[in-house]
Amino acid sequence: MLDPFGRSITYLRVSVTDRCDFRCVYCMTEDMAFLPKAEVLTLEELDRAASAFVRLGVRKLRLTGGEPLVRRNVMSLVRSLGRHLGTGALDELTITTNGSQLAKYAGELKSAGMQRINVSLDTLDPEKFTAITRWGKLPQVMEGLQAAKAAGLAVKINAVALKGVNDGEFDNLIAWCGDQGFDLVLIEVMPMGELGETARLEQYLPLSAVRARLKEKWTLDETDYRTGGPARYYTVRETGRRLGFITPLTHNFCESCNRVRLTCTGTLYMCLGQQDSADLRAPLRASETDAPLDRAIREAIARKPKGHDFVIDRRQATPAVPRHMSVTGG
Ligand code: SAM
Repeated sequence: MLDPFGRSITYLRVSVTDRCDFRCVYCMTEDMAFLPKAEVLTLEELDRAASAFVRLGVRKLRLTGGEPLVRRNVMSLVRSLGRHLGTGALDELTITTNGSQLAKYAGELKSAGMQRINVSLDTLDPEKFTAITRWGKLPQVMEGLQAAKAAGLAVKINAVALKGVNDGEFDNLIAWCGDQGFDLVLIEVMPMGELGETARLEQYLPLSAVRARLKEKWTLDETDYRTGGPARYYTVRETGRRLGFITPLTHNFCESCNRVRLTCTGTLYMCLGQQDSADLRAPLRASETDAPLDRAIREAIARKPKGHDFVIDRRQATPAVPRHMSVTGG
């Protein structure tokens, strides 16, 4: 599938639930209203939708949320999608998780064909962890990470850079990831969903400055390693692990964007930072054959915008994108 700018769409991210067992301060409000179950696609419908994308040329699937591992029976979806790895139609099936349920599921994820996973972790300080996630407990995530390692899953830690919260911890995180054998990606906070925009402005930490500071302490060797995503990677010579930066605000990489995002209600977003979307639930439910679904997917890809225009500044009273990150899963 080619979009209007000649980009080949080979990566689908599927948010399997909008629910989460954490309430990270930059992601959700504490009293989020969640979707009624009837609006949410069943696991079978999610499988059918994702499989249509695979048939049309998607080579990589990532499950996200909300927290994907809190959706009831989610492993049946993971196992079922794993069949596309077996046939060679899919190169990679993976997940982004907060790690809270990994102790239970890491082995099953590996058995279903997953090789590497992303785990979101912004701090190694247990009190700060609970302050950021509101409801999370760090030891539970640490246990999950050890289970992932034991299961043979490669782990990449995603940490959102938050001014005045974890900006003193990046050296620690780099060293700890080195010890654990994990890669690390630092992410700029994005203006998604109403949080009170002064709060957002207070959280925003440009990574260009962080990278310059880290280079004083660590030897960051440039690499051309790419995962098809927006991260730019270095190898930390002292640890041998990769360190990536995702900088949608200081520098975006929309020109090489290869992805689209499906929500748990069957809404397809063609860009994380734009509102245009396509409803895939109606064609999915209207017919038992996939022709209307395939048509709706192709029409949506034909409208993929050139890029986003996130800004965070004092003149901006509302977020760039009104939906919260938990709708699309990042
Ligand atoms: N629950 C899973 C997790 O924690 O990874 C998957 C969903 S979560 C929405 C996906 C990623 O988005 C997490 O790494 C989270 O830190 C990040 N995220 C959420 N809101 C964000 C924001 N406003 N800006 C940047 N990253 C954000």
